[in-house]
Amino acid sequence: ELVLDVEAIRAQFPILARRVHGDQPLLYLDNAATSQTPQPVLDCLQDYYGRYNANIHRGLHCLADEATAAYEQSRDTVREFVNAESTREIVFTRGTTEAINLVAQSWGRSQLHPGDEILVSHMEHHSNIVPWQLLARELDLKLHVIPVDEQGVLDMQAYRQLLGERTRLVAVSHVSNALGTINPIAEMSTLAHQHDAVMMVDGAQAVPHQRVDVQALGADFYAFSGHKVYGPTGVGVLYGRAALLEDMPPWQGGGEMISTVSFDQGTTFADIPHRFEAGTPAIAEVIALDRALRWITNLHFDLIEDWEKRLLTHATERMQAIEGMRIIGNAPHKAAVISFVIEGAHAQDIGLLIDQFGVAIRTGHHCAQPLLNHYGLEATCRASFAVYNTLEEVDHFVDALERVVTMVRG
Ligand code: PMP
Repeated sequence: ELVLDVEAIRAQFPILARRVHGDQPLLYLDNAATSQTPQPVLDCLQDYYGRYNANIHRGLHCLADEATAAYEQSRDTVREFVNAESTREIVFTRGTTEAINLVAQSWGRSQLHPGDEILVSHMEHHSNIVPWQLLARELDLKLHVIPVDEQGVLDMQAYRQLLGERTRLVAVSHVSNALGTINPIAEMSTLAHQHDAVMMVDGAQAVPHQRVDVQALGADFYAFSGHKVYGPTGVGVLYGRAALLEDMPPWQGGGEMISTVSFDQGTTFADIPHRFEAGTPAIAEVIALDRALRWITNLHFDLIEDWEKRLLTHATERMQAIEGMRIIGNAPHKAAVISFVIEGAHAQDIGLLIDQFGVAIRTGHHCAQPLLNHYGLEATCRASFAVYNTLEEVDHFVDALERVVTMVRG
């Protein structure tokens, strides 16, 4: 039987050996905001700058060739990681946010007309709301919201009713960053496609936790960030179905994205995916993302899922024993993210005090204000787990939480 060797995994993360606030071991439970980076990925960044730092796609020298090859190799690793048909469908961006804005500005602006409708869910991160609001204002589109029930599950009945003749796009997160809910993307995209609508999936919180297959999901666009999947900041991915990308105009102009530039004859643009990668990209980070994706794939996603499920179950059971505990969202399909509030204790106070015990959690609205308002809240605390967290850490976290609650309640 294959099992994860969590201690061996932890040993690959130098930061996990850190002590904070005097001599407290770091207990890092803010993985939904950003995950930590294993040594092979750190080595990869160092190796790039130490051995073959060069600009890509233009040089005719050895270093430029090596950098270009490694950059394009990463595109193929990403293709395989999300099971895209072709590397032409993989666009490197700065992150999920930029990937969604690319779709809004290029696909949206060229394809949508006044009166067209976009559906987003009530549990979206602001980065999958605001780009659509900006576009809707500019093009006079209608934005409709798929409601969320008390458990934190999307109301599929309402979704079916919202889909209509004018629906052109459905933009939904694969996994909610604030609730952990795993949404039924395959089912939703089938319904969207029955209405000839395009399916845009925000996969930022899904890729670290489960195998993603954009074809099985029926995603037309799928976005994620490197820094949430054990890779570096500053790099992300937009998967786009080739037929859609091919019809999309550039959204940023500059070097790398052109075919020929002329003042008299005008400018022609590069083929996909380069058309969408203006300027010098985050070369080192793209190459290190390749390393991160191979690192996590080698751990086996079925083992990661089993392990994180154990962390989630254990944490949930222990937390529920705390008096006044309210866990927000208990969807049957849930990733290892727990949002909670505690009666008589402000989220902010809990976050600040528990930090003194070395525990890093997040407090606030998690860039999902509409969702929190739906639950009548302005802030929650959120503990989010990664593959390197242990059951002992869960116990230390809940012990610390109990002490903090006692302190706050006086
Ligand atoms: N969508 C979701 C669901 C997220 O959790 C995040 C990051 N918190 C984003 C989008 C934005 O990702 P980034 O800031 O890396 O662009």
